[in-house]
Amino acid sequence: MLSGIHFLLTYTCNLECDHCFLYCGPNAKGTFTLRQIRKVLQEAVKIGTIEWIFFEGGEPLLFYPLLLEGVKLARNMGFGTGAVTNAYMATSSEDAELWLRPLSELHISGLSISDDSFHYEEEESPAKRAVAAATRLDMPVSSICIDEPTVEAIADPKHEKGVPVIGGGAMFKGRAVEKLTKALPKRGWEGLTECQHEELENPGRVHVDSYGNVHLCQGLSIGNMWETPLSMLVKKYKAELHPICGPLVRGGPALLAKEYGVKHEDKYVDECHFCYLTRLALIDRYPQYLAPRQVYGLEEK
Ligand code: SF4
Repeated sequence: MLSGIHFLLTYTCNLECDHCFLYCGPNAKGTFTLRQIRKVLQEAVKIGTIEWIFFEGGEPLLFYPLLLEGVKLARNMGFGTGAVTNAYMATSSEDAELWLRPLSELHISGLSISDDSFHYEEEESPAKRAVAAATRLDMPVSSICIDEPTVEAIADPKHEKGVPVIGGGAMFKGRAVEKLTKALPKRGWEGLTECQHEELENPGRVHVDSYGNVHLCQGLSIGNMWETPLSMLVKKYKAELHPICGPLVRGGPALLAKEYGVKHEDKYVDECHFCYLTRLALIDRYPQYLAPRQVYGLEEK
């Protein structure tokens, strides 16, 4: 059951992390307007099963008044609310509190703060200051931590050589494929037969962006909500009829590449690595479902 809508409030970010699966950065475009936010929230009500509205990015606090208004509107409509930030604004403990107080006064239901070795290397990171400030303000706060990928173990004794388990929490899509996959061990493509992270047949959440894309996974969309209303897209979506999700559900990235005759390497780090590169190869064939191009590191046409 679809219960969450996650606004990619903006693709713009003050940082340009190697592990970013959306290719966000200071030059990335694509920010919601207030009018667009209202439209999505009205559609969220029509869907009838939505309980949560999240605001993410990019860095949503770069557009702070818009974030506050979005949270306020969503709360007034009875939704639980959440936001994710890298806490760039927490230049001191006092400033962290100054920035977070308006969100706390709106009684946001959850605040996630990215505090990982990719974002910050200093001991007293802005993220740590922000977590402490949010705690003082009695806000429900958690931190997200992504580390440099490393081989943690060799699992699966059924395989002669075992299967490497990559730790650190990075997902191999978007810029993470370009920047992080080179030195990592890889597995044969024939074994990558399942999507391990998304419920493509029965999604619990979607991410929406200001271009109108409704993502099931980053850059894998069920359609454009500025062309067909979001509630209709959700109602009509059936994984088996979707040209990308259908093969992914039946046989993962291996079947997706096979069905479309996509040329590929013999080995990949994991399912997402293979899936992302196969989707990239199909982007001009299915531009309405594989969008926006910037999530694939490409210029918009
Ligand atoms: S990249 Fe593909 S395999 Fe990975 S979570 Fe997304 S849809 Fe599933």
